[in-house]
Amino acid sequence: MIRHLILLWVLCVSAVNSSFAVVNKSVMARANRELPSRTKYEINVEIKPEMRAYSGTEKVTFTNRQKKPTGYLLFFLYPNDHSLTKSDKKYLSISNVKVSHSFARVEEPGPFLKVFLGKELQPGQSVTVEFDFSATLPAQKGNKDLFSETMDELMRMLNPGSATQQDYGLFSSTKDIVNLGLWYAALSKYDAEGWDEEKYSGLGDVSYFDPSDFIVNIVAPSQYDVVTTGSVQKRIPDKDGKTMHNIEAVLSRDFEVELSARYEEKTRIANSTTIRSYYLPEHSESGVLASDAAVRAFEYYERIFGAYPYSELDIVEAPLFGGAGGVEFPGLVTISSLLYKYSSETAKGDPLKQLLASSGSFDQLLEFVVAHEVAHQWWNAVVGSNSKRHPFVDEAMANYSAILYFEHTYGREAALQQMAMQMKVNYQLHRMLGGPDRPVQLPAKEFKGALEYSAIVYGKGALYFDHLRDLMGDPSFFTTIKSYYDSFWFRIAAPDDFTKVAKRNAPGKQQQIDALYRRWMLETHGDEDIGPGTFDALLKTVMAGNPSIATDNADQLLQQLEEILNEK
Ligand SMILES: [Zn+2]
Repeated sequence: MIRHLILLWVLCVSAVNSSFAVVNKSVMARANRELPSRTKYEINVEIKPEMRAYSGTEKVTFTNRQKKPTGYLLFFLYPNDHSLTKSDKKYLSISNVKVSHSFARVEEPGPFLKVFLGKELQPGQSVTVEFDFSATLPAQKGNKDLFSETMDELMRMLNPGSATQQDYGLFSSTKDIVNLGLWYAALSKYDAEGWDEEKYSGLGDVSYFDPSDFIVNIVAPSQYDVVTTGSVQKRIPDKDGKTMHNIEAVLSRDFEVELSARYEEKTRIANSTTIRSYYLPEHSESGVLASDAAVRAFEYYERIFGAYPYSELDIVEAPLFGGAGGVEFPGLVTISSLLYKYSSETAKGDPLKQLLASSGSFDQLLEFVVAHEVAHQWWNAVVGSNSKRHPFVDEAMANYSAILYFEHTYGREAALQQMAMQMKVNYQLHRMLGGPDRPVQLPAKEFKGALEYSAIVYGKGALYFDHLRDLMGDPSFFTTIKSYYDSFWFRIAAPDDFTKVAKRNAPGKQQQIDALYRRWMLETHGDEDIGPGTFDALLKTVMAGNPSIATDNADQLLQQLEEILNEK
């Protein structure tokens, strides 16, 4: 989910009443055939951005699709999870919990809400749980700039005492943007093992939910853009300056909301999907670049992976921290404000802003992160995986998808440069700072900090796919991706499922494919396969990833940066 940025900067509303289809007919037909009795959420919420508060009602209808009964429903209250907010405060309060219209017994162990049903829910039976909620949002100060935040992050890495992960800002508000990630009571996943009660480790992604259907009515001040998962069916303004947004989402593992009174918007149509980029006015050039990159990536991914299920995709600027470059949700991805540079007009008179605005590697990084996050629509929103236990399943795949996008758009040389900068550098830097090589197939909680997580899951994990492609040859490899996407459409993929599909598509190479998986995913040969963690080797990788770095231009850039730093 969360795309970590490590050491990349220098190296590199009026009344509308319209209705939109949420997904097309063939998607709906397949969903109803293969995924019947999906969980239904009906949420009514009023958001008061100026007070950083929201409240409302939530109704969840759950059907037991497993073979064993359950006596309770389990919800995650992520706003109350210290691991997510890095605060001891309980931001979300639940009250008046009813099961089938009668008050119910509840417990709140840690960040969970356990609703007892009174009697066991047998296989095939459904139950409806309703409650009221009210919440406040933590205030964030807003992103600084990429240079300062990268420096802060480097300092944290170099200081062994502060290895804890910073708040990503998923659930927070700045003066410009309200970031409502995981804001409601989210029903945990109920599978053959029972309810998923695994707590979030604080590193990476929390997402492990079943595809559900949502009807969400959001009341907010009319001057705010309300950008969400799903499609707006109706917008109804009232006399008090508020608008009710009626939104529907189907086959959605999660429901994200972003608000801003300052968003500008660029809308494009890619194939038959509406792609909207939202950004702050001072970041308009990057906002348009994000839109262009998203459209190109989207069209390419539909061709090589398979059809996108929803009718809309939003690319939304949001304040994200702690090394998160972007975060994916169904039908919506957020991209950190850090990656949006000041437009030339806004940068006038500020040497640091000007310098950052003129750096080409800035645009490239934004393009890479957009390509990564857009790929998550296929590898996370549709093909699900357990992000807590096996974070590489979607992350390594999304990162390698971004490489495929660069290769398709700019050629193999550009893809190799991105592999050097986005993957090898992180691994070698991690090793140089004394971090161990680790197997890729580990739970998120096993990784010690953002750099190790990034080096192994996003770096080594993604590079594996390039070696697998080399071993299989392009035709078999690309057939494997399509077949994997189709086979795990709105299901959960296990760590070795991609390899299993690969073996079916490459007869005669089964043993080599198994050996490659073992070597890259379960064992530790990173120094041999990627490069050692010495300063010289790291520098070589940086040069390979940045052919321009040796030019006078780059020297000048570094010199300017040094001067600015000395002044400040
Ligand atoms: Zn990701």
